[in-house]
Amino acid sequence: MKNITLPRHDEVELKGCHDIRHWTACKGCGGLGDQMAMLSYQGAPFHGTCLVKLLDRRTLLKLPASELGKLTLGDTGTPLMRALLNRKATQGTCGHSG
Ligand SMILES: [Zn+2]
Repeated sequence: MKNITLPRHDEVELKGCHDIRHWTACKGCGGLGDQMAMLSYQGAPFHGTCLVKLLDRRTLLKLPASELGKLTLGDTGTPLMRALLNRKATQGTCGHSG
């Protein structure tokens, strides 16, 4: 008699799921975050809010547009978001600033 091993339900779920998030620890607060949504600063992952708290506005605005694009209004607050939008308007979104 053949011994058929059926895959366990949870294994199937994991292998078939393309939405597995890559959790990583934020260098700012130590909490976990979704790597895709986190900003990279000096090679380390940060929550948007944590990086906003960590950096002054001038430094923050120098980050590549690819990173700044991950910031939400909730991360930045209105004044900073306005500054970010102004930056995008003047420099474009390619991130190749000087
Ligand atoms: Zn954090």
